[in-house]
Amino acid sequence: MKKRIGDVLIEMGFIDNGQLEMALMEAKKTGAMIGDVLLRLDWITDEQLQMGLAVQSGAQILETSTVTIDHELITKIPLDFVNQHTVFPFAREDNIVKVATANPFDVLTKDELARMTGLRVENYLAPKEWIANAIELHYKRARAIDEEIEKLTVTKAGQEDFAEDQIIKLADLLLEKGNVLGASDIHVEPDNKLVRIYYRIDGVLQQKYIFPKNFQQSLATRYKIMGDMDISNTNIPHDGRFKYQSSVGEINLRVSTFPTHLGETVVLRLLKYSDVVGDLAKHGLEAEDLERFFHYLKQPYGLILSTGPTGSGKTTTLYSALMQINNPNINVLTIEDPIEHVIPTIRQTAVNPKTGLTFGSALRSAMRQDPDVILVGEIRDQETAELALRASMTGHLVLSTLHTNDAASAINRMLDLGINTSILASSLIMVVAQRLVRKLCPQCVEMQPLTDSDKELFIQHSLEPPMETSKPVGCESCDHSGYNGRTGIFEVLGVDRNMEELIATNATHSMIQDSAMQAGTNLMFKQALQKVKSGITSIEEIFRVVANA
Ligand SMILES: [Zn+2]
Repeated sequence: MKKRIGDVLIEMGFIDNGQLEMALMEAKKTGAMIGDVLLRLDWITDEQLQMGLAVQSGAQILETSTVTIDHELITKIPLDFVNQHTVFPFAREDNIVKVATANPFDVLTKDELARMTGLRVENYLAPKEWIANAIELHYKRARAIDEEIEKLTVTKAGQEDFAEDQIIKLADLLLEKGNVLGASDIHVEPDNKLVRIYYRIDGVLQQKYIFPKNFQQSLATRYKIMGDMDISNTNIPHDGRFKYQSSVGEINLRVSTFPTHLGETVVLRLLKYSDVVGDLAKHGLEAEDLERFFHYLKQPYGLILSTGPTGSGKTTTLYSALMQINNPNINVLTIEDPIEHVIPTIRQTAVNPKTGLTFGSALRSAMRQDPDVILVGEIRDQETAELALRASMTGHLVLSTLHTNDAASAINRMLDLGINTSILASSLIMVVAQRLVRKLCPQCVEMQPLTDSDKELFIQHSLEPPMETSKPVGCESCDHSGYNGRTGIFEVLGVDRNMEELIATNATHSMIQDSAMQAGTNLMFKQALQKVKSGITSIEEIFRVVANA
């Protein structure tokens, strides 16, 4: 039996139960159709009603936030056609072409598409604006970029120098193109006589453009300037990062150059498409800790641990770390339970106790796959702990998580698992402990004077007490909780010489914490207080989440 339209509209999130009830009463009174009543009350738009009716009759809805566009397919269906009929073909599977449409009842267009492609057409419902945007971006913009690039790279024979703005424009267009294509990486690779531009799309490297060789150094230099890197030395590798404002939003980029006998190779990583993982700074890591984090992350091998209770975001932190170090020249392997974020370009495995694939056994096999970096979802037992340590001692960078309250406790926990103190001391690089606290809703937050005991708290953690702190109130937009969204609180403990010695001599928890503090680590509670001081969260929230150690 068909669902009632009112229920469908609730499921789609267009109206709530109360609105439906009132509309039903009104419909009963006036004898009007429920859809018309909702329209008249302005609670839904015409388009929403059409979508509801389509879903009611069994149409599938396109998940527009996660859809992957098949760019090959787009080249086969003309712009005129998609424009005229407001459809957007987005994927192909065997003999089926999947098409986004705002009007699933349009049978004529469906037939026409089937005839044109020789494939069976499957309609997916999507909002009109989404389709229009997709056409604009993937048809018009992509084509315009190609034309502009072609014009910019026509050279006269023997031309060596280019106008500065020509190179700037070209570098930008290559980034725009990467964005349109949904590329994760752009490579600028010198050849004997040419420079080749590759894009990595869905994990596959594809050549897109070939320019005359004389563009190579200018382009490399331009990207190095954008990445704030040393342009004077082209004989050593460089790293940098920058943000680029594209026509469809901001992209975070990481640049790395590598000297080859044919010239500098440039690899640009577009971080936009790993937004799930995103920037550590965005997750709440303070600048000073971010610096410490990167300092220790740069080690070529060793063990990095992320700790915290379940749901504290520790896996996300490890993924972020992975994204920072991942590049096409290193081999990354993960063993997870389950795979939390799919990252193109790295090999991911999920443990499966039913088939005997545990963290331990998977790690043993992984070692034979010649990885440079291994992410082990969690260290739960002695076997995994020992294998992870062994891997980190034999030239691998190993990232994993542990369930402990703070960074220093991770060390005790590893020793409890039977790890030898001197082995741990020489292999452990860094421990990051973390928690997630709720952020105050900016719509309704209010200030309150600091109490004497709270003032004490700041002083105790060597922080200047603020005059006032923010407190949660609650409003419509935060569902009366006073909070909206969450942010991370981090304790970054790096293993320096002192720390190594302490671990090797089986030092106590408090000795480890003291030494970490001396080396500049801000303990969790202090970090939390800093978030209170900057008005991000409240005193009561940090007491809920973080123990005052
Ligand atoms: Zn609010």
